[in-house]
Amino acid sequence: MPPDDLEAERVLRICTACMYCDGLCAVFPAIAGKHDFAPNDLTYLANLCHNCRGCWYACQYAPPHHFAINLPNTLAELRQRSYADYAWPRWLGRGFGANARVVAAIVGGITASMLIATLLLVPANVLFAAHHGPGAFYRVVPWPIMAGAAAATLLSAMLAIGISAASYWRAITPRAGTKAILRALYPAVLDIVTLRNLGGGGPGCNDADEKFSQQRRWFHHVMVAGFAFSLAATLIAAFYHHVYAVAAPYSLTSLPVLAGGIGGVTMLIGIGGLLLLERRADRALSAAAEIRLNIVFLVLLALVAGSGLAVLALRETAAMGLVLTLHLGIVIGFFAILPVSKAVHGLYRSLALLRAAIERARPRRSGDE
Ligand code: SF4
Ligand code: SF4
Repeated sequence: MPPDDLEAERVLRICTACMYCDGLCAVFPAIAGKHDFAPNDLTYLANLCHNCRGCWYACQYAPPHHFAINLPNTLAELRQRSYADYAWPRWLGRGFGANARVVAAIVGGITASMLIATLLLVPANVLFAAHHGPGAFYRVVPWPIMAGAAAATLLSAMLAIGISAASYWRAITPRAGTKAILRALYPAVLDIVTLRNLGGGGPGCNDADEKFSQQRRWFHHVMVAGFAFSLAATLIAAFYHHVYAVAAPYSLTSLPVLAGGIGGVTMLIGIGGLLLLERRADRALSAAAEIRLNIVFLVLLALVAGSGLAVLALRETAAMGLVLTLHLGIVIGFFAILPVSKAVHGLYRSLALLRAAIERARPRRSGDE
């Protein structure tokens, strides 16, 4: 067994005997009454932990006690390893190890290539002109190239993440029938959407010290809401393009622009808050790799939102061509790195919460399956 697994087993055995933290999050009901933890169970528990840090501040066996319990850090180390272990294709797993360099190389490379291609292929009198009216963007970057490159990159990223998540689910899946899984869907979705386990059982996370706060939970909600608005803007714009045959850019009061503008600003507020909390947080309670993964992903998402807002602000000026190309490069780079980014935690944690919901329902419904 790898040293991380041995440490996790040691810590969890003490926790399951102690259970002082029962009620803080879904991890403790999931370990209740258990004495042995198979590697797949450890992977499941690691992804069930939201790193709220509550159990560290509550723990009477934390250092300097010789048990030296640090459950948030122990589970964070395993969580990071699980992202690499289930990555598809396998070699992608290495991207989690040197995440900042990999992301910078991929996103930087794609963005620089797009800028160079635009400078070489688009005549200067077109690239540096102010364009107005429907189709203005596509005079610089033709629509099939823009939509085709973005869609192809996003679809291959979704395929890689989907296959990774499927093999992760096969590894952690409980013995449960379809009926039990369907029954657990609603409580699981509720846990996923509300981030209930980031509430430390009610009062909130220990973001910086023993004081409780709901800030991390709310900034996460704000960021996701901003992302949802931006996604809605893209879908509405696609509808205008294909159904009404009206090409972008749209007027400032149109639905895609309003949704995109609100989405970009909201995302930046959420990201800013999360980065601030990341900066204040006690690093010993997470894994160094997890901190890097969080920061790299948040910064990149901020670049996507910020460059999108820059296109909106400069779209009628001579700078539009270059700003649009820069934004496209960042967006396509962002799609390309999704399988080696923090984005995977969304699916892994959701599946862990689904298993937890199935197990919660089990004692009351034995014999149903
Ligand atoms: S983290 Fe500490 S206090 Fe909480 S259950 Fe584990 S051993 Fe007990
Ligand atoms: S850090 Fe928070 S979410 Fe993770 S095990 Fe401890 S109490 Fe649960």
